Order: sequence, then structure tokens, then C-alpha cells
Amino acid sequence: MNRILIIAPNWIGDAVMSQPLLANIKTLYPQSQIDVLASPWVAPIYRACTEVGQVIEAGLVHKKLQWGLRKQLARQLEANQYEACFVLPNSFKSALIPWLANIPFRIGYRGEMRFGLINIALDNPSKVNRPPMANHYLALSNALDHSHEMDTSHRADPKLNVSPIAKQSVSIKLQADSINEKSLYVLCPGAEYGTTKRWPTEHFADLAKKLIGNEADVRVILLGSKGDHALGEEITSLAANTSQIHNWCGDTSLDEAIALIGVSKALVSNDSGLMHIGAALKVPQVAIFGSSDPHHTPPLSDKAKVIWLNLPCSPCHKRECPLGHLKCLNDILPETVLNTIQALH
Ligand code: SF4
Repeated sequence: MNRILIIAPNWIGDAVMSQPLLANIKTLYPQSQIDVLASPWVAPIYRACTEVGQVIEAGLVHKKLQWGLRKQLARQLEANQYEACFVLPNSFKSALIPWLANIPFRIGYRGEMRFGLINIALDNPSKVNRPPMANHYLALSNALDHSHEMDTSHRADPKLNVSPIAKQSVSIKLQADSINEKSLYVLCPGAEYGTTKRWPTEHFADLAKKLIGNEADVRVILLGSKGDHALGEEITSLAANTSQIHNWCGDTSLDEAIALIGVSKALVSNDSGLMHIGAALKVPQVAIFGSSDPHHTPPLSDKAKVIWLNLPCSPCHKRECPLGHLKCLNDILPETVLNTIQALH
């Protein structure tokens, strides 16, 4: 195999979880160039994967067919003469481009009625007994050639590397705010899924105050998307500290966010894409879980600690608490998170 294409998933966490698959493919086919077709918001993840040759950004919109754009991309990709393509999303649309690009081997899960589009198909996993996401992707690596099968049942920890350009850009930003990375904590208050994955802002504010204590050089950066900016403002205002708490939600690119997490002393996040980035960078971290199940999507790192109350009602996987009390998150106290962070060092 000389050239292999990956069709990337649409979520940051899933993209991080796909790195062990890329590593396995590289081990199986060391001479191959692995390129990735990705949306602009997950492309930075693949720029941080050493196995990837080229990241091709595609402005495809979730749930839209965009037939003309898909045909145009397929023509562009056909010229690269890929021999195999791993299609990671389960959708019918995601399998169209490699089929239109005449890539001979198109590997993926059966997904939604993709007969013919995917020609090496694995059965969809059971909904009740799903393997961890990283292993789900990893299992695809053996589908192309069974003669060199690798064990894909072990824990597969993703690994990312910060690009030198992103590192430099973050270093300039930190210097501009006189932030010493040796005493920098990153808190990520957002979670796109909904409130049942978001630890309360009051708790984040209290934790930030506790981390700062009486230490003049400690800084807390709140990191997230533009949509999390209001959460960041709320936390800064509740903590009544604007000189040592910096709301950078929406102010960094994902490449910079990766670099920033990479230099931090510790990361505290909800069950979100940034949590998986922290794990892949092997940063000391605390991951707070509410309505979701840490067994399915844990932060895969020996430096990560999960806090999950495992209440009788959890995991409920609902976006809003059906019981109205959100005890799975409200009852995780800032002291508990602080003690966990201190135990990491
Ligand atoms: S039902 Fe339980 S697990 Fe679900 S959101 Fe409410 S407190 Fe959390």
C-alpha cells in the first residue's frame, strides 16, 4: 500500500480516538502515506498526528448532501491514486466520496445502508456492549489484510504531538499576558452535548479560586469554543478575579488550544473533546463525568483521573436531567476536584 486515505469523523473526541488506528495502519504498512480528509474543525487533530502526511480540509456541512462539492472532492482525490480508504463515520454520505474517487478498497462499518459504497464492511457493534471508541476504530486496521493481524483488544491510548507553529503562537500569547506556563491551570467549562455534561460554573469558579489561593504567579485559563465564552465570563465574574483568571474561550484556534493544554500544569474538563486532547498529550488531568459513561469514552491516559459519582440514575445519556436535580454533577465538590489535582503531582 502506498497511499491510504482516512475519512475523518466529525467530532473532536472521535478524531482523537482514531489516532491509534492511524498508528496501527502505519505499523502494518510502513511505506504508506496516510492522508486525511477532515472538516476544518477536526483538521487540527490530524495535524497533531505524526502518522499523517497531508490533511485535506473539506467544507462539508453535517447532514447536508452537497453532491457537487462531493463530486469535486472525489475528482481531486482520484488524482492522488489512493489504494485504500478507511471511512470512520457511519453515514451514507461519508462513504460517497471514496466510491466516487474510485478507491479500490473502502473499509468501514456497515453503518447506514452502505452496500457497495463500503466494500470491506465490519458488522456494526452491539448498542448494549459497545467497545471503547478507540478500539472500535482500531478494529478496522485488520480488515484489509488478515495475514498480519494485530491485537486490537488492548487499551489503545491516543497520542498527539503539538506542532512547533502552534507552540510558538501560544508562547507569544502567554508572554503577552505575563503568564508563566509552569504555574498554569487550564479549565474547560464547556461541553457541546448539553448541561448534563457541564460541571456547574459556580464549582468551576470555586475551583479556580482554590487553585490560585494566595499564589501570585498561579494563572487559570478558561478554554473552549466561542459558544463557551459566556460560561467563561460567568466563571470569571463568580470568582471575582480578572487578573489571574483569563477567559480565552473563543480566543484560540484548536491548534493553539492543543498547544496550550500541552504546556499546562494540569487540565480540568468535562467529558468533552478537549478532555481527549489532554489525555492524548499526557497532561495531568481531572475529567468530570455526569450523565455519560466513562467506561465507553474515558480519557485514555495514565495521568488522567475520572470523577464520576455512578449514581443509580447514571449514566442516563440525556441532554437535560430528567430528574431535575443534576446531582451527578452538582454533588461533585470543588474540594474533591482540588484534592484529585493535588494527588496527580
Ligand atoms: S438523571 Fe441522574 S445521571 Fe441523568 S442527568 Fe440527572 S442526575 Fe445526572
